[in-house]
Amino acid sequence: MNIPEVIRAIQTALGVDVDGYAGPATWQAVYDRIVPDAHPAITTSDKVDDRSEKVIATLLSEVQSYARALVTKASADGITIKVISGLRTYDEQNDLYAQGRTKPGKIVTNARGGYSNHNFGIAFDVGVFEGSQYIDESPKYKAVGAIGMDLGLEWGGNRKTIQDEPHFQLRPNWAGDLSEGDMLAELRSRKESGEGAYA
Ligand SMILES: [Zn+2]
Repeated sequence: MNIPEVIRAIQTALGVDVDGYAGPATWQAVYDRIVPDAHPAITTSDKVDDRSEKVIATLLSEVQSYARALVTKASADGITIKVISGLRTYDEQNDLYAQGRTKPGKIVTNARGGYSNHNFGIAFDVGVFEGSQYIDESPKYKAVGAIGMDLGLEWGGNRKTIQDEPHFQLRPNWAGDLSEGDMLAELRSRKESGEGAYA
């Protein structure tokens, strides 16, 4: 096939006008077909358990339905999870950072205030439960990670450095492939200027 024939075949397959010329409409159709939607629409608004809902209420509205969908889908797979941590203020993050450093306890985070996705309402942590018992280590976290990624969430278990299996976050579209550090820098400046994290 020559190039116009290839384009005609692609246009036929995409269901756009077949003219053998790859103009804007053809490219848009190619883009829509090939580039995955970073934010598949999640519209679950059914409330989940009370403990999770308290935490979910601290998240940005864009993230809330993802958190609920994760709880609901995990439950459909026989895994009980609750959302146990959501938004943290910079002060709360600094307190957490002090733990194991200038305060007693063991180190639980390497992020100071403004350096955690939790500081912007775009991240949450889940806990696996068996009955009313919280389980902090279980292969079920991996299964939940797969469900989360399927929904379009980023999963902390995929991190190359510090793996964090209970952690999920919804990456803003503007962040594309930005490094975590660059994304956090932009989130800090947006918070300062009052521009929304997902605007
Ligand atoms: Zn987390």
